[in-house]
Amino acid sequence: MSNELENIPIRQELEVLQSGQKRTNPLANVFDGLVKFCRSRSMFMLHYCTGCGAIELPPAMTSRFDMERLGIQPMVTPRQADILLITGYVSIKTLKRIILTYEQMGSPKYVIGICSCTVNGGMYWQSYATAKVLRDYLPVDVYIAGCMPRPEAVISGLRELMEDISSGRAESWKKYYQHYDYYLGNQQKLFGEDWQTPTDIIAEARHYDLMTEHTLGEHTALLEKHQKPLEALEMRLSVKDKQKV
Ligand code: SF4
Repeated sequence: MSNELENIPIRQELEVLQSGQKRTNPLANVFDGLVKFCRSRSMFMLHYCTGCGAIELPPAMTSRFDMERLGIQPMVTPRQADILLITGYVSIKTLKRIILTYEQMGSPKYVIGICSCTVNGGMYWQSYATAKVLRDYLPVDVYIAGCMPRPEAVISGLRELMEDISSGRAESWKKYYQHYDYYLGNQQKLFGEDWQTPTDIIAEARHYDLMTEHTLGEHTALLEKHQKPLEALEMRLSVKDKQKV
């Protein structure tokens, strides 16, 4: 049976695509376009309400602006969500939860930073307790700036993301695997060098064939050094972190 599957032309085309060559089968291109279109019109959004910008989401979801007409609806679990909305300033403690949540989402996944606080720290730019630039820790697909952005701006940002997904430009999720050492290094600067999460990002990068020379490095080496057995609930946070929580 597996040999028969390998002989299906579309499967062979996918292998060609992964190896960086140009596709030759027009049917595979049509199929690809259809998948991207459907993906962009059925987005489940995990709204992780981090700051004051979250107050603009209820009007964007309810009757006046009605986000659901675009195929976007809220989802309660990261496992089934496509988009992670970060709705304002991010404290260092909150950033840990954001990273844990992001890593649990299935790929492809997309991040939207709402509010100026996610772009450069906004009015909290001098605060010792907040992470200033969200994209240093996670790849961000779309920023919606403003303090706070109105629902029209939120809808406009979501439509931009839809266009990016259907045209194949929204590929920031791949960057997390391709440059994992960079993201992990920035996380370690904030949380300490023994920072770990339960998700094996390196194995996922291998699975998606997205390993590059920037996936592994001095920071991923620290993961191995501080490796601890997986503990339920505490999720390998350091002892210091557990005391703070
Ligand atoms: S940009 Fe303004 S509204 Fe948004 S989280 Fe920051 S302070 Fe709050």
